[in-house]
Amino acid sequence: MATAKVPESQDVTRIERIGAHSHIRGLGLDDTLDARVVSQGMVGQLQARRAAGVILKMIQEGKIAGRALLIAGQPGTGKTAIAMGMAQALGTDTPFTMLSGSEIYSLEMSRTEALTQGFRRSIGVRIKEETEIIEGEVVEIQIDKPASGNGEKRGKLTLKTTEMETIYDLGTKMIEGLIKEKVQAGDVITIDKASGKISKLGRSFARARDYDAMGSSTKFVQCPEGELQKRKEVVHTVSLHEMDVINSRAQGFLALFAGDTGEIKQEIREQIDQKVSEWREEGKAEIVPGVLFIDEVHMLDVECYSFLNRALESPMAPILVFATNRGITRIRGTNYKGPHGMPIDLLDRLLIISTQPYSEKELAQILNIRCEEEDVEMTEDAKDLLTKIAVDASLRYAIHMITVSSLVCAKRKGTEVTVEDVKKVYGLFSDVKRSTQFMMEHQNEFMF
Ligand code: ATP
Repeated sequence: MATAKVPESQDVTRIERIGAHSHIRGLGLDDTLDARVVSQGMVGQLQARRAAGVILKMIQEGKIAGRALLIAGQPGTGKTAIAMGMAQALGTDTPFTMLSGSEIYSLEMSRTEALTQGFRRSIGVRIKEETEIIEGEVVEIQIDKPASGNGEKRGKLTLKTTEMETIYDLGTKMIEGLIKEKVQAGDVITIDKASGKISKLGRSFARARDYDAMGSSTKFVQCPEGELQKRKEVVHTVSLHEMDVINSRAQGFLALFAGDTGEIKQEIREQIDQKVSEWREEGKAEIVPGVLFIDEVHMLDVECYSFLNRALESPMAPILVFATNRGITRIRGTNYKGPHGMPIDLLDRLLIISTQPYSEKELAQILNIRCEEEDVEMTEDAKDLLTKIAVDASLRYAIHMITVSSLVCAKRKGTEVTVEDVKKVYGLFSDVKRSTQFMMEHQNEFMF
């Protein structure tokens, strides 16, 4: 019987690494929020990046709630890249959700439900909890040989706390913690009771209290058994949406992994909001407004726009970042036209950032970064040709050609992509312009 192979973590990293925007590591700004010409994977587009930086600062200072941003510009001018750069710069604790305008048309849920879920995914709740930490000096460690077959390690650890010596049974995870921290007899360590995590504080002559003086957020409590224990504050952030799903009895937390959460009842959301506001009053939680990025915003219809207009007023709204590459076009659900296909009253409330087309030099720099990102070696001539293709066809088409050219190169057992490889790929795959041209010339031969 074939057994399913569990992908190794390395595979996962690789897939992430070569995503369309994986080379973007931030907005590439200096301390005064000026954009560096090439930095953190970002090239050019200085004005727009600087503007995005100002917005970022406002988000970080908590001054942004209720506002929204529109990034408008031609296709392939880095609108999504800038939004991704903002997300990177915000750090992992700030929720960032990406939706495409067309994604909200689903048979499983209404459009407003899809948008509400997007909103709630983008609002984090930072929850503070206390865990018990045992601290003591290591008297002896004994690690048994791994039990044959399953690789499981066992062992014992004798730990001396202020008043007693206790022997702890060790499991694989704890042993790995000890090895990682290079713990020896005589070291002062802490064990987090909930997670089993081991940390080394130093050698035994350094008293634990000294560590407190160094600014750790821990405090001592004397336990009845006489063990010296500490309580440490741990903080984790979950989104309102995750809380909704976990508490929605019909779905349960498994739905979070499946990504198939269905519609969530309003009463569940009300209960969660109530709970969160209690925690906030008790000082146990705080709200972290994140970013909801809606690409292809012109795909939304008038019902969605009025929902967004209202939702922006809510005190718990995340910052909305829209992107569109459309000019004056029909507002879906109406017979009227509007700039970017959006109603004027919503547009009026937006801060608008526009992106400009790239120069040939900038295109060359972006393509160069992508070659590095994809570990593709390419001759200078081939890079020049690729840049010309980016100018004539599109940046996105040229970026796609990097991967395919490197496959063609590998097929002929080459180590460096040449002009010939690029030409071959150009012949094999049409870009939008050539494909449109072909359609126009042969339209009678296609089905209507
Ligand atoms: P569309 O309107 O078609 O959605 P877009 O404006 O969102 O286009 P992106 O998807 O951001 O364009 O850009 C196309 C590709 O070029 C992406 O891989 C992106 O990461 C890269 N890119 C665009 N601008 C830059 C930039 N200034 N620096 C580095 N990479 C960029």
